[in-house]
Amino acid sequence: MRGILGGTFDPPHVAHLVAAEAAYRQLALETVTFVPAGAPWQKAEREVSPAEDRWAMTRLAVEGVGYFEADDREVMRPGWTYTIDTLETFDEPVVLIVGADAARGLPTWYRARDVMARATIAVIPRPGVDARSVERRLEGATMLWLETPLLAISGTMLRDRVRRGHSVRFLVPDPVWRYVEEHGLYRVDDGRLEDRSA
Ligand code: ATP
Ligand code: MG
Repeated sequence: MRGILGGTFDPPHVAHLVAAEAAYRQLALETVTFVPAGAPWQKAEREVSPAEDRWAMTRLAVEGVGYFEADDREVMRPGWTYTIDTLETFDEPVVLIVGADAARGLPTWYRARDVMARATIAVIPRPGVDARSVERRLEGATMLWLETPLLAISGTMLRDRVRRGHSVRFLVPDPVWRYVEEHGLYRVDDGRLEDRSA
């Protein structure tokens, strides 16, 4: 069975890899497919890094792990990105891997019922998110918890660290760290990313 880990991946970080590894091991998956969102509608209020950079970093993040792959079907698709459109492009049933914060929001997604009907939802605990609130919101879905350590790492926190001149080395895979440095991502003078939600 295939696991799907969707996200903005702005940037991909170690908690994403830990989540994918947990799903791969605990659910005996064949592959975990990382699918960066093209235009994530949930983040319409903030400027997201260009899809080109997020796609490049996602490829770098999965590099060297045979059972991880990066898939560009969402970055290639025009318009807002909806998970259901992605699920419908896979013929076989899949496991959708989501952090507890995303899981809690799932009932508000476009065609949420269809998402729940099509995929098993594997949830990763996330600091600050109450497990029972997730379970209540996912009533009716086929859901399970994956066992991982709680990791207080987020893309928001990493972008903020870079902006403040702090290192993100070892919080992201090394090739991703190098990409962020070489392309000057998330710096104040970058001009491409202005986080109005901060
Ligand atoms: P941002 O702060 O920009 O939203 P993020 O760290 O939440 O970044 P996303 O690309 O939004 O990263 O997340 C992709 C998926 O990974 C989501 O399902 C999210 O809940 C999950 N995820 C990300 N970080 C963690 C974490 N530290 N623990 C558990 N799940 C996580
Ligand atoms: Mg997020």
